[in-house]
Amino acid sequence: MSALIDRFLRYVAIDTGSSETSGTSPSTKAQHDLAGVLYREMCDLGLSDVYYDREHCYVYGTIPANNKDMLPAGSRPVRLGFVSHMDTSPEVTGRDVKPRIVKEYDGEDIVLDEKDGVILSPKDFPELLKQKGNDLIVTDGHTLLGADDKAGCAEIMTMAERLMQDPSIPHGDIRICFTPDEEIGEGVKFFDLARFDADCAYTADGGALGELEYENFNAAEAQVTVLGRSVHPGYAKNKMINATLIAYEFQSMLPVFENPMYTEGREGFFHLNQMRGTVEKAVMHYILRDHDRTLFEKKKQTMRDICAFLNQKYGEGTVELLMEDVYYNMIEKIRPHMHLVENARDAMRMLQVEPVEHPIRGGTDGAMLSYKGLPCPNLCTGGYNFHGRYEYASIREMELSCEILLKIAAIYGAYHVSANGSIAR
Ligand SMILES: [Zn+2]
Repeated sequence: MSALIDRFLRYVAIDTGSSETSGTSPSTKAQHDLAGVLYREMCDLGLSDVYYDREHCYVYGTIPANNKDMLPAGSRPVRLGFVSHMDTSPEVTGRDVKPRIVKEYDGEDIVLDEKDGVILSPKDFPELLKQKGNDLIVTDGHTLLGADDKAGCAEIMTMAERLMQDPSIPHGDIRICFTPDEEIGEGVKFFDLARFDADCAYTADGGALGELEYENFNAAEAQVTVLGRSVHPGYAKNKMINATLIAYEFQSMLPVFENPMYTEGREGFFHLNQMRGTVEKAVMHYILRDHDRTLFEKKKQTMRDICAFLNQKYGEGTVELLMEDVYYNMIEKIRPHMHLVENARDAMRMLQVEPVEHPIRGGTDGAMLSYKGLPCPNLCTGGYNFHGRYEYASIREMELSCEILLKIAAIYGAYHVSANGSIAR
């Protein structure tokens, strides 16, 4: 078995499910179990500046540049970062993952658990058919696999091993960071950008081979609280204000088709993801998404307008709106650094991999890092069907994803940062 797959299987055996509810950082202690393994591995491989933030569960390391002699006088090597997350989704358990390798997949149904009838079928997941002839890693039908994002962790670590062992590949400083709690949106909360000190970076947290992502949603969340007035229903005429019905009215005034059930591609939405209510009080929770910043702002304005209208109708203070931006589309921060996209495309094409570039209908740690000043597109890892029992990974695609990282590292080996701070070849 290759070093990459051996690593991957070791990492998925460690349960690192994060928790939405614990309120701690990291959200679960078990993430330290993997962090400790990654830390020791980086030390054993001889990386520099290996640092384990034991308080917040981040692991950092550097593969020192070996291209200094080749660069123009007065310049320095590029510091290129690679980031992946150690935690797995809290939606499905990651305890006792029992990965199974399916040799040379034949295009038929894969029975994950015969007794419970859990079947990974190309009828449900047609993209499976593209894996015909490839070796796949699947679950036993009871847990997620954890390819999201332990495939990324294993690929980055294997890249590090290869670069440390093969000095013939010229490269700049390669900074590595493994983060906790990405799945609960807190992966960059305690990310030490000053320590990481990279000029630019990639997250290895994508799916299908060739995925190259540098556009994501703008995201906001909103809480709508409606205060009503409860009166005996038999004597309620002109007295009762039914908060639940006003909440219903609020929802009915939103554009019907701007809803996750009816949108795809670059279409944004309002998503009511929770609602509870009585006559006295109703609370609704929404998430708002749009790739386009103008349309995103317009969506937020629609929420405010509905709130104002209902307050006019039912009285000031009936409806309260709390709204907060969560993250923004990274494209605005990537555009000044398009070499990140172009070099990733070149790396893929050198390996006969066709880049697949779609706007993400979600966010990434990279989006948040981009807004903190570290431009950070996302790369494929070779995993599929994240966050569930049907998750699987393609060994061929994982190996190629790792090769892509190596090629990108090599491409940036020919770059330098000049005295004025600009990156050039
Ligand atoms: Zn992920």
